[in-house]
Amino acid sequence: MAEERIEVACCIAGGGPAGMMLGLLLARAGVEVLVLEKHGDFLRDFRGDTIHPSTLEVMHELGLLDAFLKLPHDEVTTLSGQVGAEILQIADFRHLPTRCKFVALMPQWDFLNFLAGAAKAYRGFHLRLRAEACALIEVGGRIAGLRAETPEGMLEIRAGLVVAADGRHSVLRAQAGLEVMDLGAPMDVLWLRLSRRTSDPQQTLGRFVGGRILVMLNRGSYWQCAFVIPKGGIEAIRAAGLPAFREAIAGLAPYLDDRIGELASWDDVKLLTVAVDRLRRWHRPGLLCIGDAAHAMWPIGGVGINLAIQDAVATANLLGPSLLQGTPGDHALAAVQRRRIFPTAMTQRLQVLVQNRVIRRVLAGAASARLPLPLRLMRRFPVLTRLPARLVGIGFRPEHIGYHPP
Ligand SMILES: Cc1cc2nc3c(=O)[nH]c(=O)nc-3n(C[C@H](O)[C@H](O)[C@H](O)COP(=O)(O)OP(=O)(O)OC[C@H]3O[C@@H](n4cnc5c(N)ncnc54)[C@H](O)[C@@H]3O)c2cc1C
Repeated sequence: MAEERIEVACCIAGGGPAGMMLGLLLARAGVEVLVLEKHGDFLRDFRGDTIHPSTLEVMHELGLLDAFLKLPHDEVTTLSGQVGAEILQIADFRHLPTRCKFVALMPQWDFLNFLAGAAKAYRGFHLRLRAEACALIEVGGRIAGLRAETPEGMLEIRAGLVVAADGRHSVLRAQAGLEVMDLGAPMDVLWLRLSRRTSDPQQTLGRFVGGRILVMLNRGSYWQCAFVIPKGGIEAIRAAGLPAFREAIAGLAPYLDDRIGELASWDDVKLLTVAVDRLRRWHRPGLLCIGDAAHAMWPIGGVGINLAIQDAVATANLLGPSLLQGTPGDHALAAVQRRRIFPTAMTQRLQVLVQNRVIRRVLAGAASARLPLPLRLMRRFPVLTRLPARLVGIGFRPEHIGYHPP
């Protein structure tokens, strides 16, 4: 098969939130950039659907917010949790110092299509779908490009910088031999969808009842549900049979009982194997990892997309100018890791804390009937619900667009 050769300033492997946002920002700054996406489109179900206030702030800074919010979406202003029979508010986004005081729920493919559309306005932006990065090209100890498989044959790309934004199973980070620190995740998540009736409650809600956890995202016409199970617990659940699984879900949210038959087979239930990890070093000369490729996040709290976007903004701010002049040196790549390690590590630390103190105990059936202290405090002083809103909605080190074209 023919081998095509291309030369660009920056080649990004992976057209997820991190890769598409970085592609848009670099092209906007005048950098010649090529994004490779192994799939033929962005249409994949059960991906993260949450667009947080800090990401919406970035969209505003790019002048894209109004057009973006014209896309169909739902707005979540508060998050609640049901512990036993009691429903409590645990995050209130309405007081955030951001333009949008809500989390927008939107299918990820709409978000990615929107970013692709905005990026195509810039001459330097190139997107190749059905192009799967498969091998790094190393010259004299430096990553000088990569090879990708396409339906037309092999593609060889030479680039001043390769960015691995190919997600939490990144082949490029594995090939580069970058060390992964596994932070442990004692759970997996089953994703499913059930229709929503107008008589159902409105809230996006986490239910912690009788050793079980169900998170329900209100998506207008349907509920997107995450059922949290102990790590590797899927076999036991399957062995117990679909009727028992349906019963468990309906037991957590009884109003779902009349439509639980929509779960017609195990094909309607998707397993997400949860991983929480991060790279010790995010870069090698000529190569930088961002987004899930640098740090897989825990799904609940929905901060993975947010962090991926923030990584992209920081990368464009720090490397855009040097990419216009040539090849960023290793110290420039290290600067990206230095900038993003604090929010990443702090977020993961909090996630592991919640996981060990709350999730693990609930799944083990060991949680006491008494509400945990932070929840009791929030019930007493509702103003405290602004803190989780800030941590989830904005995070630890929000990034802002640093370059504005003349
Ligand atoms: C089931 C599920 C539910 C989730 N829910 C949420 C949520 O509600 N909120 C939230 O914030 N986060 C959620 N997450 C996590 C969130 O989706 C990720 O953190 C986020 O998408 C990371 O963005 P990314 O661009 O780094 O990686 P990804 O989104 O994983 O994107 C990587 C892209 O690279 C492509 N790719 C992979 N390998 C190659 C290759 N070799 N060559 C070319 N392309 C390649 C993939 O097809 C993909 O498009 C969820 C994840 C899953 C799996």
